[in-house]
Order: sequence, then C-alpha cells, then structure tokens
Amino acid sequence: MIDGDKSSTKSVSLTPIEFFIKNKGERFVLGDDPRNIGEQKIFSAAPYSVDGREGYVYIVLAGKKFQEVSDNLLNQYFTKLGIGATLLTMLFSLVIGLLAIWFLTKNLRLITKTVRKFHDGDLQARIANPENSDIEVFANSFNEMADSIVGNMDKMQSVDLLRRELIANVSHDLRTPLAILKGYIETLQIKNDTLSEEQKQEYLQITHDNVDKLSNLINQLFEYSKLEAEQVTPVKEPFSITELSHDLIAKFRVIAEQKQINLQLDNPEENCMVFADVSLVERALQNLIENALKYTQANGKVTLSLQKKGKNVEINITDTGTGIPVNEQPFIFDRYKQVDKSAKKQGYGLGLAIVKKIMDLHDTTITVLSRPKEGSSFIFHLPAYQV
Ligand code: ADP
Repeated sequence: MIDGDKSSTKSVSLTPIEFFIKNKGERFVLGDDPRNIGEQKIFSAAPYSVDGREGYVYIVLAGKKFQEVSDNLLNQYFTKLGIGATLLTMLFSLVIGLLAIWFLTKNLRLITKTVRKFHDGDLQARIANPENSDIEVFANSFNEMADSIVGNMDKMQSVDLLRRELIANVSHDLRTPLAILKGYIETLQIKNDTLSEEQKQEYLQITHDNVDKLSNLINQLFEYSKLEAEQVTPVKEPFSITELSHDLIAKFRVIAEQKQINLQLDNPEENCMVFADVSLVERALQNLIENALKYTQANGKVTLSLQKKGKNVEINITDTGTGIPVNEQPFIFDRYKQVDKSAKKQGYGLGLAIVKKIMDLHDTTITVLSRPKEGSSFIFHLPAYQV
C-alpha cells in the first residue's frame, strides 16, 4: 500500500487485478480503492516476485488529491449549473408572467377601447359578446348604461321635436284667427260709414267668434301644458257621476238641438258614485261630448251611458257620426292629431290629448271603438264608490 492512511484498508480484491494483468491492461477495469472503502477506481497493476514470493504492484490512478480537485470542480460545475438554471427559470417566469398579464387584461383593454369610442361620440359602441368576457357583469353594465343613455337622448330629441312642432302649430293656430280679427276690425274702421248695419253686425259676429276661438285655444294649450308638465294633482273624492252627466247633458242640449242631434243620458242605475277628481272628469266628458256633437251630422244621436261593472263604473260616449278610420284610431289621442285636416277649423287636436292625460292621472285608460260612417264609442272606467 502506498498510503498509510488510518481510514484505508489493507486488502483489495484480486479478481480485477488478475483480469487486468491477464488482458495486459487492454481492457478497462475498475478495482477497489484502498483509501475509500467500498469505492472502485481505475488502477494499474504489475506482477512481481521477490525471493520466490509473488505479488502485485497495485496503483490506483486517481489519488486523494485528485479526488478532492475533481470533487471541487464537480461542485463548481453544479453551482454554475444551479445559477444558470435559476436565471433561466426567472426569465421563463418573466415571460409567462407578461403573457398572463396580457391575457388577463385583454378584456379590460377591449372595454376601455369601447368606452373611449362611446365617449368620443360613437353611440353604437357596445362590448361584443359580454357573456364571453371574464368581467361579464361590468361589460353588461356598460352596455345597459349605453342603451339607457342613447334611449334618454332619443327621448329628449323627440320631446324637443314635439316642442318645436307644438310651437309651429300654435303659432299657426294663433295667427289665423288673429289675421281674421285684424282684417275685420280694419274693415270696420275704414268702411264704417259705408257698411250697412247688417254687415256691421255680421263682421262683429265674426270677430267675436274668432276671439272665442283664440281664447278656447289658449285655454286648451294652457290646460294641456299644465297636464303635461305634471303640475296637476288630481283631488279624488266621491261624487255622483250621474248628477255630473245630467248637468253636462243639460249644458250641451242647446248645441245639440241647434245641430238637430238627439243627445241622451242612458243611466240604468239610480245614482252612480265614483271616486275621482270631479273637475278633471267633467273636463274629459266635456271634450268627448263636444267631439261627438262636432263629428255627428243632423238627425244623428249622441248617448252618454253609465253602467256599474264590478268595482267600476263604465262611462261610454257613443255617437252615430263620421267615425274614425281604423288605421287612425291609435293616434287620435296624440297631441295635434287630426284625422281630417279640413276639420281643423273645428278644433285644434288637443281635446283628446287632454282626455288621455286626465285618464293617466286616474290610472285608467280610454278605448275607442269606431267605424267610418257608422259612428264612434269612447269608453273608460272609474272606480265605483260604495256608500
Ligand atoms: P279636435 O279638436 O280636432 O277635435 P281632438 O283631439 O278632440 O281634436 O280629436 C282628434 C281627432 O280625432 C279629431 O280631429 C277627429 O279627427 C277625431 N275624432 C275625435 N272624436 C271623434 C268622434 N267622436 N268622431 C269622429 N272623429 C273623432
């Protein structure tokens, strides 16, 4: 043994030595390392004989120093490998992280882009397929908000359009009777001496009628705008609709007789009580009777009937007048809507719009049943009042 180390062994296996010598060192063989028990190393060996005693010179090629250096190098190698691997892992993580952020913020970026488009005036901009988005609730909320903004803008535009239309119509309606008034008053002033008493009376009657028309229009407009601005609060109370109907029939009897129209109250019940705003209901009935008389020819009939139906009283104003074409019926409650423009001289298209507003204030609706040349029925219900 070369080294006398305490930890080393005194004997090695002869089998690899004999194999090595037998093959003259041409075959690669590992033998026991006497300094590291249990380990095997490359060795070199040669037989020798001294005084008839035979043995082997056995040299392990990798010595203890060599082993230390080699272990050191191996450690360094692994350290370098570790640092490299760590750097590589960090780089990989960075790339994965950036990719993840890009993916996660993809929808957010899309939403931001859409919001910006909407802000810049593209009112049709919406987040497509919000159900596929991972922030579905936000996407849906934005779409709903955009819809409601666009809806409100449309509403405001249509209100603005109606307002302009109203101003145009009102100016026209005011101008016509005013021009007539001016014309007749000027004629009366200029030709006062040459006009006969009869002519003067006729002209005065015309001016009087036009003043009536003007005040009627102004009253209707005032009433309608108050109703539209929701400035009217109905004061509901129990009252007899039967009594009110009697009064109205009496009030319109003269006009009906002048037009040779049979105006009747059909009231099978003794006394119908309703719970509503008496002056608003009176206004609605007045407009409906006025219309019925307006659009019914001589020898026709106008009936106001009251009938208790469950918890309500049904009020029906039926005439045998001109009737309303079916396609026009849904629009007659719109402001300024007139089926026959030539009837303009008879009204301003505000009467039914006012009726509709009064119905709204009573949470009820009005129905029209009408056939051209046969007549029309306007029906609505009011809550009956039980004494
Ligand atoms: P107007 O002042 O022109 O009568 P309304 O708002 O009262 O305006 O009525 C709107 C339109 O509905 C009328 O111009 C008329 O064409 C139609 N209308 C209303 N009531 C009747 C009716 N009883 N018979 C026939 N047409 C009617």
